[in-house]
Amino acid sequence: MKNKQFIVGPVELYQETRDVYQTDFTYFRTPEFGAMVKTTLAQLSKMIGNKKPNSMIYLTASGTAGMEAVIENCTNKDDKCLVINGGTFGHRFCELLEYHNIDFSSIDLEWNETLTQKHLNPYANKGYTMLFVNLHETSTGQLYDIEMISKFAKENNLLLVVDAISTFLADEFDMNKYGIDATIISSQKGLCLSAGLSFISFSERMLKRVYAKENVSSKYFDFKDYLKNIERGQTPYTPAVFIMYELQDMLGLIEKEGGLNKRLKFIEEKCKYFRKKALEIGLKIPDYPLSNMLTPVLFENISAYDVIQVLKDKYCIFVNPCGGKLADVLLRVSHIGNTTIADIDDLIEKMQLAINEVKERTICNVK
Ligand SMILES: *Cc1c(COP(=O)(O)O)cnc(C)c1O
Repeated sequence: MKNKQFIVGPVELYQETRDVYQTDFTYFRTPEFGAMVKTTLAQLSKMIGNKKPNSMIYLTASGTAGMEAVIENCTNKDDKCLVINGGTFGHRFCELLEYHNIDFSSIDLEWNETLTQKHLNPYANKGYTMLFVNLHETSTGQLYDIEMISKFAKENNLLLVVDAISTFLADEFDMNKYGIDATIISSQKGLCLSAGLSFISFSERMLKRVYAKENVSSKYFDFKDYLKNIERGQTPYTPAVFIMYELQDMLGLIEKEGGLNKRLKFIEEKCKYFRKKALEIGLKIPDYPLSNMLTPVLFENISAYDVIQVLKDKYCIFVNPCGGKLADVLLRVSHIGNTTIADIDDLIEKMQLAINEVKERTICNVK
């Protein structure tokens, strides 16, 4: 049986992406490779809503490195930061800021607590300088209200750093419209590429800040080197060349399909279809605002974790577990990657079977 992935990433690659490895490639220190990178990054920048040339760099490293490198390069010792901490990834921003000795406060949310204006209000006019948010908190599926966050950041003159890793190419996203100063994305989520590249896009004022910063704590991740090199489509060190080719190919594929909105519509269609079918078989979905990238499914009487194991062991279907105290309560089904409506029908059928099996086991175990 072939594995079927409904996980948040790395997702199952499209055949076209796999085929990239069969084609020829150019040595990366050539003007030809540089030109390809420049064109590709310009297209990607446009998709995230930043049209300024050379305002995006890429790192050969996973998304967390992008998060950490932004903290190293975009914060200063006298910054006072605010973090929306609604789960694993919000917590990660907190850990990274702490590690780099940057002063911060966090708005800590319960896993099922919706972020609202009342959470933000106590932090207005308190001397904060930056706001960090993982717009889609992948660990729970909550999609925060970017309009509300953006307005708060503008009113308080905060530099806004958005980890858009799991919302980009699943939900509408527009860096310019929302006045975002740094956006972090990575290759293995909505872009459906191999894991290993992260991309950071900067606003004009964030670029100034990056150029002004001296003594960046990491030599390898000093953004000034990346910004200087990217003008020629180059990187200071050897990049994951093949993922760049995958990206070029994927952007072409999205264009061919009908463009960004068409892609977003397809993800939305898969998402809505899954949610409708899930409710029909009696599954519960939490009621906080959700990204189209994934659907969390809530379990009350049986263990979500056990259901995941049966899906994997018996049907070769992979969905995401949740960590810590949510392990038995939630599982997460992703809607990105190379999956179809027919795959969702199959998933729903197998979920029903897996649930029945776990239920039977649970009843037998009750003394
Ligand atoms: C996947 C993800 C990351 C990056 O995790 P890596 O394992 O370092 O690639 C960061 N933030 C969010 C919101 C994510 O979903």
